[in-house]
Amino acid sequence: RGLRALEELPGTHLVTTSSLYGSRPVGPEDQPDFINAVAALETSLEPLALLDALQQLEREAGRVRTRRWGERTLDLDILLWADRSLALDRLQIPHPRLHERAFVLIPLREAAPELVLPGGRQIAQLMPQSNQGVWYHGPARVHRERTGD
Ligand code: ATP
Ligand code: CA
Ligand code: CA
Repeated sequence: RGLRALEELPGTHLVTTSSLYGSRPVGPEDQPDFINAVAALETSLEPLALLDALQQLEREAGRVRTRRWGERTLDLDILLWADRSLALDRLQIPHPRLHERAFVLIPLREAAPELVLPGGRQIAQLMPQSNQGVWYHGPARVHRERTGD
């Protein structure tokens, strides 16, 4: 549903999505497993306008902020923005913890195997040694099943 919601943002087109990956929670461990995916978007929105829209979708998904890195119904982070960098209080691009998270890097590599990050490092060079508790969960079914045609 999160991926589908991205497709419906104004001026925005969902170009690619990774499969879904399960992961053990990072931070507080007394919470359920997570499901992660990476999407590539083309958008005419500016970065802060996209962040506003993503946070609106999180609220619509019933997200309640409890504890840092705690359980949530939906978390939409901006990982990269072409080859741009941004260092605002509200928005850092690239996402500052992207490099250290297998649950980000594994779906990111699937969605963009040729990706080169700002600074010149290739996605393959960033891959973790182990899967760090990340597993393949299944395909991302973004488009509704068509009926009758
Ligand atoms: P993490 O950022 O470590 O993945 P989180 O996603 O649980 O943790 P949130 O509570 O969802 O953190 O977000 C906290 C704040 O991070 C947001 O209000 C937002 O302003 C800020 N933020 C900074 N950079 C980004 C980014 N690249 N994408 C999304 N939010 C960001
Ligand atoms: Ca996050
Ligand atoms: Ca977030």
